[in-house]
Order: sequence, then structure tokens, then C-alpha cells
Amino acid sequence: MTLDLDAEQLDRYSRHIIMDDVGPEGQAALLDASVLVVGAGGLGAPVVQYLAAAGVGTLGIADDDEVELSNLQRQVIHGVDDVGRPKVDSAAEFVAALNPDVTVERHPVAVSPDTVTDLVERYNVVVDASDNFPTRFLLNDACALADVPLSHGAVYRFEGQVTTFTGGQPCYRCLFPEAPPKGAVPDCSTAGVLGILPGTVGAIQATEVVKLLLGEGETLDGRLLVYDAESLSTETVPIAPAPDCPVCGEEPAIDSVADGEYADRCAVPE
Ligand SMILES: [Zn+2]
Repeated sequence: MTLDLDAEQLDRYSRHIIMDDVGPEGQAALLDASVLVVGAGGLGAPVVQYLAAAGVGTLGIADDDEVELSNLQRQVIHGVDDVGRPKVDSAAEFVAALNPDVTVERHPVAVSPDTVTDLVERYNVVVDASDNFPTRFLLNDACALADVPLSHGAVYRFEGQVTTFTGGQPCYRCLFPEAPPKGAVPDCSTAGVLGILPGTVGAIQATEVVKLLLGEGETLDGRLLVYDAESLSTETVPIAPAPDCPVCGEEPAIDSVADGEYADRCAVPE
């Protein structure tokens, strides 16, 4: 770990450095850390924004989409001039303009069973900022098998859900053993989402990541935080470890992502 912060870094991160719980050691740990953000959309935008501002030294950003005009209602790292450009390029330029200490690793791919394990193993923490069930299950399985902490966030209309898995039990499949049947859960484009909501949920995910990297505080491991923006209320629901969980249970059926089923079962039928 490099503790030799230069004068500019001492200034840039001064509000961290004066905190007892961070200090120069904590800031150096953030600069040495690497985080993979899967999805540079509504949730990924605040995650990338705040992790870059906080000085997380290496940010991997995985997304195979291009920016669309309808994204700008919530995906605040992209602008009008970015419409039609790859989101990873737009996100990388946002980070470069905000904090030159941060190296962005662009992954302009959809994570798949073929690529996910190599990808997650290279990072200290993974953030699921995706918008679909196949990716959520794939990231859960890959991170659980590789023992990489995973932050999960999801948004729907006025409601957000967020939790953190740090290894062992429980995992996302303890909560949802498998993806819902096709058509049961509409996605953002069919159900809509309050534009600010992924900002709130993504900011919580970024908070969890920074705490994990600093080794400070208590994460949401074992708890699902449910946030209702309409009533401005939160509820924290315990996640029971499932003895028969196919990934982290007593006799796991999935010991490789090649064993999982990740077909897109959440799309709404025509
Ligand atoms: Zn599990």
C-alpha cells in the first residue's frame, strides 16, 4: 500500500483524511482498490460518480449498451452529446474529468457465463448495477464461487432494494432461488422508474463499497433494505440463509457458472 499521498491528493481527499475512520491510511486503501461496476445506467451512474470522487483507484465498467435519449432522465453521467455512444466511453470520460487519480478499465461486453469469472476475480468488490435477472443471478453465482463481495441494487417505479453479500451465507439465491417466470416482472422500460430512485439506491451501493474497502462500519450483509420513495419509508428485512440454496447451501448444485441457467426469463411477453 502506498501511503505517500501527494500535496494535491492531500487537498482533494482532505475531508476523508481528517476523519478518524478513514485517515491517510484509508484513503491510500481506496486508491489501491479496484471495483467492478456492471451496468453504466441508472444505478451505475451514481456508483461510478461517487467511487471516482472518493478516489477508488481502479474502476472496471462493464456495459455493452449505447446511450439513448430516454436514459438521460436518470443516468446522470451521460449527456446529450453522448447519445449513440457506448456507455463505457461516456462513463470513462466522466471519470477522467472528475478525478485523474482513477484508472477506468472499459469492458464493452455483456457479462456472460464465459466471461464473468475472469472478470470478477480481478476486482476487490463487484457492484451489480444491472437491470435484468439473468445478470443478477450470474453475478451472484460468480461472486459467491470466487468469494468476491457483491453489492446488489434494484429499482422499480418508486421502490428500491439494496443489499450486500460478503461471502458465505446468505447469497442472492437464498432470497430468490431462481429467476421469476417469463413475464412476471416487467423491466424499467415497461414499468417505468422515478428518475431519482436509482440515484438514491446507487448512492447506498457506493456507500457499502467504500465501507467494505475501508473495513469500517456494518454492511447490509444478511439484510435487504427496501426503500419506498412514494411514502419515504425504509424497511430492513433479514435474509435467512437457505440450507438448500443451490449456490451457498449445504449441498450446492451449482459449483460453476456453467451449471447455472441464465436465459432471459424476465422479459415481458409481446
Ligand atoms: Zn445462497
